[in-house]
Amino acid sequence: MTLKQFIAVVLAASMASAPGTYAQPAARIPPRWIDVHLHLIGERGPRGDFAGAIASAIEAMDRFGIATAIVLPPPQIDEQMRYDAPAFAAALQRYRGRFAYLGGGGTLNSFIHRHADASTVSDAVKRQFAAAAEKLIDDGAVGFGEMASLHMSATARHPYEFVPADHPLFRVLADVAAKRDVPIDLHMDAVAGEMPTPARFAVPPNPPKLADTMAALARLLAYNRKARIIWAHGGSDPLGAMSPAAIGRLMDANPNLFVSLRIVGPPAPMMNKALSNEGLDPDWRELLRRHVDRFVIGTDSFMVSPTMRGGGPGVRFAERNTPKLRATIHFLSLLPPGAARRIGRDNALRIYRLRPGPA
Ligand SMILES: [Zn+2]
Ligand SMILES: [Zn+2]
Repeated sequence: MTLKQFIAVVLAASMASAPGTYAQPAARIPPRWIDVHLHLIGERGPRGDFAGAIASAIEAMDRFGIATAIVLPPPQIDEQMRYDAPAFAAALQRYRGRFAYLGGGGTLNSFIHRHADASTVSDAVKRQFAAAAEKLIDDGAVGFGEMASLHMSATARHPYEFVPADHPLFRVLADVAAKRDVPIDLHMDAVAGEMPTPARFAVPPNPPKLADTMAALARLLAYNRKARIIWAHGGSDPLGAMSPAAIGRLMDANPNLFVSLRIVGPPAPMMNKALSNEGLDPDWRELLRRHVDRFVIGTDSFMVSPTMRGGGPGVRFAERNTPKLRATIHFLSLLPPGAARRIGRDNALRIYRLRPGPA
């Protein structure tokens, strides 16, 4: 298949069942793009089936033109049945060149939140944490994730988590990331100044009030400039403070800050969206132009094994995969070709130190 034919096929697949969703027709997309934020949902335990979830991922990747995906375990806490990169790393080997993975969402994130009270972080705890982080990289992870500072619970069995982004163990992680030259994928729902929890989230386990998160992120970025932090989920903000203006100010001041874009369609119940029915939001357009080397695509898709029973949050979130992937392709098609290539592919290769996959 020629490049032109490939683009035509992907566009047809992406637009066919969504007539009239967008005002502008998609014109250009990078033929093969990189998704830096993809989750696998399979049965855990001894009969774990991440192979099925990986097969689902490959199918979606082929359908939507994704050359390479970075798989990462969601940010988990002790109350959950946890899993981390070793659960799926071996199964990814079958598809050489299509995947890389991050580690720590199961082990390191629960470790940090177990020590939410920073006074419990002794030097011995720091050493134990750093050793666990180093081991993940030794074993093949290309970075750390998904880590959480503030993570709002959006549905049943979806955890609320909070520690400031400059928690002492996040500082240790920044030092390990700098030493090993790997990035950290950070989920931090944005709160600028203390505020009451918005109505949509005002049910337990979420608390009635939320503390500022932005100042702590700035402190973490300043603490170790060699640690590359990828702030996840730009372009679909649940709380309202992750605006293009706020991201722009943080990027201006912090050269080690990057943002992965979770592009959603205009009807999605999110704020500060990059896409509207009219096309690319003008404030986002300007920010992407100004910091074109600092953005990547991280769809936050949940790829579910066909044998998966039960309906946890991951299974429910998976219903949003196709609208998000369609919106992402449309978004890339609205960027100038050079910007689409950088945001869709080249920045990810550089920031995650990936080798180019099959072109
Ligand atoms: Zn997240
Ligand atoms: Zn995620």
